[in-house]
Amino acid sequence: MTATTAPRLTNLLGMTREEMEAFFLSIGEKKFRAAQMLKWIHIEGCDDFAAMTNLSKALRTRLTEVAEIRGPSVVYEGSSSDGTRKWVLEVEDGSYVETVLIPADNGKRRTLCVSSQVGCSLDCSFCSTGKQGFQRNLTAAEIIGQVWVAQRSVGPRRDTANRPVTNVVMMGMGEPLMNYDNVVPAMKLMLDDDGYGLSKRRVTLSTSGVVPMLDKLGDELDVSLAVSLHAANDELRNELVPLNRKYNIRTLIDACHRYLAKCHDTRQVTIEYTVIKDVNDQQVHAEQLAAVLEELPCKINLIPFNPFPHSGYETPSRNQVMRFQQWLYDLGYTAMIRSTRGDDIDAACGQLVGRVKDRTKRHARYIQSIQIDAD
Ligand code: SAH
Ligand code: SF4
Repeated sequence: MTATTAPRLTNLLGMTREEMEAFFLSIGEKKFRAAQMLKWIHIEGCDDFAAMTNLSKALRTRLTEVAEIRGPSVVYEGSSSDGTRKWVLEVEDGSYVETVLIPADNGKRRTLCVSSQVGCSLDCSFCSTGKQGFQRNLTAAEIIGQVWVAQRSVGPRRDTANRPVTNVVMMGMGEPLMNYDNVVPAMKLMLDDDGYGLSKRRVTLSTSGVVPMLDKLGDELDVSLAVSLHAANDELRNELVPLNRKYNIRTLIDACHRYLAKCHDTRQVTIEYTVIKDVNDQQVHAEQLAAVLEELPCKINLIPFNPFPHSGYETPSRNQVMRFQQWLYDLGYTAMIRSTRGDDIDAACGQLVGRVKDRTKRHARYIQSIQIDAD
């Protein structure tokens, strides 16, 4: 007896407008169905074809035969006393990723921190995701699925004045530019008016400096850019961010200039600088940073190092971070020190923790501590 396998359903969740149009054409429907479907999925948060009342009954039936809307499943949802919310999501292979929504400005701003990979291959010495190694890229559906889940739990996006998610930062697990082909479609959905309708200034991609991909991104999208610098001399940055051996500081800063030049409006790069005790927190480091950033329109975010077991690094005192901030100020730079949020649900600044099942799925581990930008 031969086993028959059910035909695989096409998941519509991660499809951009163009992909959705191609899908509807492929099943003999008109292109405009794509806009209707995008609205159902991303504005209404709907995953049930039967509820899509502006589609004919025949089309709804056909859709159930060939397609599905499948997001990551929520295995944990928590809220912190300061309003920070966190979701632990299980993705296809049983790995977990976390998504955190951080309110700011009296609830006017709600920033979602989104992951792009399970683990990361770039092995930055101060990052626990890097220490866990690389497991796999998230699909576009799994990336946008994080926004979809967060919005569904907060409420549908029916009016633009009261969006459940007002900003997205790609600052969760992974290096987004190492998963370009899935990150870009997901960001297109964040920007699409029938998707999440966010302005490009409110969608931020954070990168440790994958220069060729940054150039490519600039040709395609002009979302806000955050660059994880952490050191302004190559010797030290080679140690902290091994990718620096391939694309050094000058090469990276030049790429930032090219990116800004391609943006259609006036922009600044956000420079992320994780401050590590006795490693990059001295006056000379502030001076090097000021010199390197001299020509670049930018703002600086100082992130006190978030410790994790066996990192070999320590968090500087609050005073030392403030001293570092003052040195930069004296050199003509305003730097923000990121504040701590969501402590009681492990979602505090620098403590967004992704839990990943290892390849053998024998146990889950905490893998990352990052800082979340509520900007
Ligand atoms: N891979 C991307 C985005 C994810 S990391 C990048 O590196 O930019 C998001 C931010 O958290 C980066 O600026 C990263 O350097 C920082 N980060 C990672 N580990 C940290 C730690 N232990 N303490 C503080 N910041 C950390
Ligand atoms: Fe990867 Fe970013 Fe962590 Fe570096 S800091 S290992 S690029 S996630």
